[in-house]
Amino acid sequence: MREEDILTAARALHEAQRVVVFTGAGISTESGIPDFRSPGGIWSRYNQDDLTYQKFRSHEKYRKLYWEYDRARYPAMRDAEPNAAHRAVVEIEKTGKLAALITQNIDGLHQKAGSSREKTFELHGTVKEVTCLDCHRRWDRDEITGKMEAERIEVPYCEHCGGPLKCATIAFGQTLPAEVLEQSFLHARNCDLFLIIGSSLVVQPASMLPIEAKRSGARLILINLSETPYDRLMDVILHGLAGPTTEAVMQEFRKLEQCQAGVVPAE
Ligand code: NAD
Ligand code: ZN
Repeated sequence: MREEDILTAARALHEAQRVVVFTGAGISTESGIPDFRSPGGIWSRYNQDDLTYQKFRSHEKYRKLYWEYDRARYPAMRDAEPNAAHRAVVEIEKTGKLAALITQNIDGLHQKAGSSREKTFELHGTVKEVTCLDCHRRWDRDEITGKMEAERIEVPYCEHCGGPLKCATIAFGQTLPAEVLEQSFLHARNCDLFLIIGSSLVVQPASMLPIEAKRSGARLILINLSETPYDRLMDVILHGLAGPTTEAVMQEFRKLEQCQAGVVPAE
């Protein structure tokens, strides 16, 4: 990673007025939550095909398997703390430049870091809540899982309509929430800077967002460990760890902002 690229990214952030930050599992690995594609993660112990929305709907045995999987993945997310990259997004929001934070993550770490609810669009939902698939009522997750443990319930059902309860995340085969998707595309089209942190950009339709932003004239910055299928669209690519790389950009960004405000940065 070149120092020059850090500076270009910082300058782009400084010049931007409507920033969209787009994050994926890679922003949270330094907080101890493995991404889907790392070997040995929870994901590799379960067969994806058994965890689809259709299977969940179809049979009690799949609902049981789903909840077993969900309870296995949850503690790492519950106990994780946000890292420097999550905090940088909060800092960008505080400058007034952030139009939207669009995340594929379900871990709730952006909110834990202090990102506001109004600006955050969770494309794939959240593990922090549970929803009834029939009447769409929602509960706090710990309330439901606490009851499951206390009453030895393997698969919870809705006390109002009898529908099956599932974590409020988007399973494979499940449609994304239309409103969240619509708003995300709108923000991608209206931003002047689209900053991607920690996404392989292979999951659809989320990976269409940077294309949409580029088409509308926005600059694109990618902070990611590995290559993505859309690297050719990027104005700046910073290959590195999300936390330290984002922090390096923020350091330069702060200097530029201070200069503009007429404050001489203390060395
Ligand atoms: P992904 O697993 O497909 O890709 C993660 C990307 O991040 C990879 O390209 C990897 O090289 C990069 N990466 C990993 N660690 C990094 C680090 N420390 N710094 C910089 N880059 C790093 O993730 P995705 O694009 O978000 O899509 C996969 C799906 O996984 C999404 O639907 C998401 O909902 C789900 N998921 C979410 C979580 C979470 O909430 N934390 C965890 C696992 C999976
Ligand atoms: Zn219900």
